[in-house]
Amino acid sequence: MPDAPNTWDIALRQFHEVAELLALSKDLRDYLSAPEAVHVFSVPVLRDDGTTHVFTGIRSQHSFARGPAKGGLRFHPDVSIDEVKALSMWMTWKCAVVNVPFGGGKGGLICDYKSFSKREKERAARSFARRLSRVIGPDIDIPAPDVNTGPEVMAWIADEYGHFVGHPEPAVITGKPVEFGGSKGRDSATGRGLAYCVERYFENLGKPLEGQRVVIQGFGNAGQWAARILASLGATLIAISDSRGAVHCTEGISTSGAVKHKLETGEVAGLPGDAISNAELLELECDILVPAALESVITVDNAPRLKAKLIVEAANGPTTPDADRILHERGITVIPDVLANAGGVTVSYFEWVQNRQRYYWPEDKVHDRLRQIMRDALDEVQHLAEEKQVPWRTAAYMLAIKRVAHAVEVNHPNF
Ligand code: NAD
Repeated sequence: MPDAPNTWDIALRQFHEVAELLALSKDLRDYLSAPEAVHVFSVPVLRDDGTTHVFTGIRSQHSFARGPAKGGLRFHPDVSIDEVKALSMWMTWKCAVVNVPFGGGKGGLICDYKSFSKREKERAARSFARRLSRVIGPDIDIPAPDVNTGPEVMAWIADEYGHFVGHPEPAVITGKPVEFGGSKGRDSATGRGLAYCVERYFENLGKPLEGQRVVIQGFGNAGQWAARILASLGATLIAISDSRGAVHCTEGISTSGAVKHKLETGEVAGLPGDAISNAELLELECDILVPAALESVITVDNAPRLKAKLIVEAANGPTTPDADRILHERGITVIPDVLANAGGVTVSYFEWVQNRQRYYWPEDKVHDRLRQIMRDALDEVQHLAEEKQVPWRTAAYMLAIKRVAHAVEVNHPNF
């Protein structure tokens, strides 16, 4: 079996393809194709058995051209420097697509965090935070949750950073608990932003969203909220899945019933409808397919058989580049991850703004502002895709890279 492609190689290849289309100068290409900084830390953690184990922590800051770096922290054994660099570059493009004034960052701690006790988890997060504190800050780099890190980890990191600078500074990190400076509406933001994109897509198409049949792979945070908001806008959920199984029901699945069932049983299996496999789910006849679980689930093997008319990527990287080409040839529009799931980073931006203002917005204001940003971004990407006759992913990258390149040229003429 050939080795899986290196994530950083993929990120670079994508960048250079679009840089070529934009005719970017060689100097700009060289500059943007490397992170501005990559920090590697030794992170000692006192284990419950009294030993101290030293883990490796990484923070890559790909670009500061449009503002402080922004991006998550994942605590996982598979984290590597190359993966973190690639994810930080993708964050630069994602922030630029929705035009929030941030660059891209990403970080990770190489450890089996899930296996840690509660106290080890806190000590590991705080130890990493003490080292990170030297290179992050509300005007420098603002981390956020990612794989295996949630509001609690963010609160520990903000607390350590507060000790480092000598005063509380909630704006150093986003994804905090609401009672600790988090934003209302952050929990639903990714799925909600995706639904707002779909709403705008159908408006531009001149077709009602009512009755459009939706299939969602993955029923976690992004998938559940996408399902709930799409249903509230009139779409019909006909199939959902999680890691344990999938259910198909042509008459429609109640989203509130599905969320309740998942909460109670931990799975979607057992809901009314036909039990199918995850592979079958992707190939169902439907109007909108939302992959909201893993990367690389739409491949050259299944892309020729997909029957969805529109694919909207909640997950990061669910479509391989070769599958993308097949879908484009088949006339299936893909709203790419950098646009479709950017609702999360957009509300993180709102959280940072509220922290800096020390003034907190009501939830409906968060939703309204998110909706406007997602609609504007969708219009811009669609317009460019149609004007240049390119796939939406290419258009989103063109828009983003052009914005970042322009910021570099304007702000740092001698970068
Ligand atoms: P989550 O852990 O809450 O949910 C993931 C879901 O996928 C779970 O229901 C899980 O059972 C399911 N799943 C796992 N393996 C599966 C498989 N083989 N087949 C079908 N389902 C499977 O995660 P999430 O936060 O909802 O994130 C999902 C995706 O969206 C990830 O790619 C993530 O990077 C991306 N994303 C999330 C956010 C966010 O704010 N939550 C923001 C941007 C991107």
